[in-house]
Amino acid sequence: MNDRARSLAGDRADPLRHFRGRFHRPPGLIYLDGNSLGMMPNAVLPRIEAVLRREWAEGLIRSWDDAGWWDLPLRVGAKIAPLIGAREEEVVATDSTSVNLFKLLAAALALRPGRGVILTDPGNFPTDLYIAEGLSRLIPGCELRSVPLGEIAGALDRSVAVVALGHVDYRSAEILDMAGMTRAAHAAGALALWDLSHSAGAIAVNLDAAAVDLAVGCGYKYLNGGPGAPAYLYVRRDLQAEIRSPLPGWWGHAEPFAFASSYVAAPGIARMLCGTQPILALAALDAALTLWAEVDFALLEEKRNALSELFIELVEERCPDLVLASPRDPARRGSHVSFRHPKGREMLEALRAEGVVADFRRPDLLRFGIAPLTLGYTDIFDAAERLSRALTRV
Ligand SMILES: *Cc1c(COP(=O)(O)O)cnc(C)c1O
Repeated sequence: MNDRARSLAGDRADPLRHFRGRFHRPPGLIYLDGNSLGMMPNAVLPRIEAVLRREWAEGLIRSWDDAGWWDLPLRVGAKIAPLIGAREEEVVATDSTSVNLFKLLAAALALRPGRGVILTDPGNFPTDLYIAEGLSRLIPGCELRSVPLGEIAGALDRSVAVVALGHVDYRSAEILDMAGMTRAAHAAGALALWDLSHSAGAIAVNLDAAAVDLAVGCGYKYLNGGPGAPAYLYVRRDLQAEIRSPLPGWWGHAEPFAFASSYVAAPGIARMLCGTQPILALAALDAALTLWAEVDFALLEEKRNALSELFIELVEERCPDLVLASPRDPARRGSHVSFRHPKGREMLEALRAEGVVADFRRPDLLRFGIAPLTLGYTDIFDAAERLSRALTRV
């Protein structure tokens, strides 16, 4: 069987193939950038229209209660919870990943009095580093300690309040050992905070099994919530009574409509909310998340691996100038595949002219997002064909 016939057979046998029809697919386009901005689920458009026409235009202020606007951050959080191995009451959708990280890092420092160090690795996602650096300048006694991953365990001493890491490396797609590093943090008396932006919705995440304390993640990548979708944050249940948001706005107040002159934190995860939430954006994310109730995660993992393996095999066969920059072992690889090429940027442009969207990270990294719900085996085959054609033109 040749590669094309094999891909067609793969699509016919794919138990998740019906999900592809639940996303808007621009004609002729092969989209390998779901790791940066996920495709639009069909459910989003009618939902936004209903929010505008019915809930806002007609319902007006009554919709805070009648349309459930007020509770939307918690309801959306509850929908994300099963994707990350959390309980419904441990997750809330709100703010951006950066802002949530700020809130949780500051809260983590307060939960570990006498310890001032935020420990991370210099390869962490840039905004995560900037936020930690900003906090270290803002809070007296706080220090950002940034050491390579291999040295994290050795750098864990009694001064470390929190270890903050990304679950999947945004360049190589390498999956970090969440359970192991969380255990090491706990053994040193520190908290563990994970950024799930590049893992949730693409690979199995189990915060509960890994005993993770705090987590943040993004709504617009594999969760397909749309540009600037609200992010989410997770606080383990038994820390919720103690944790305090450094941005205690009225949405996190125990009695927001008492309009009291001083702050009392709401019980539970709602205390991490700050101000009025973006209902249109939350509604889009909520609609996008509906399809996850039907997704079998074992099948999703299997399909992601199969698509990625096929892509690597075809690219290495047809484009020998591209050098794999992701782990070859599928168990250590997240949901994108990276290759190096000295003319990466030109490649990316030639590829776009062929109707394939991927992305580029300096200096020479091409990233191909393999979002398993939106892609099929023939997409992978066609993308590799077009990639080899693009290669002849750079
Ligand atoms: C995409 C991403 C973010 C995005 O942060 P925003 O504040 O939502 O823009 C943060 N961290 C990681 C690891 C990401 O991949």
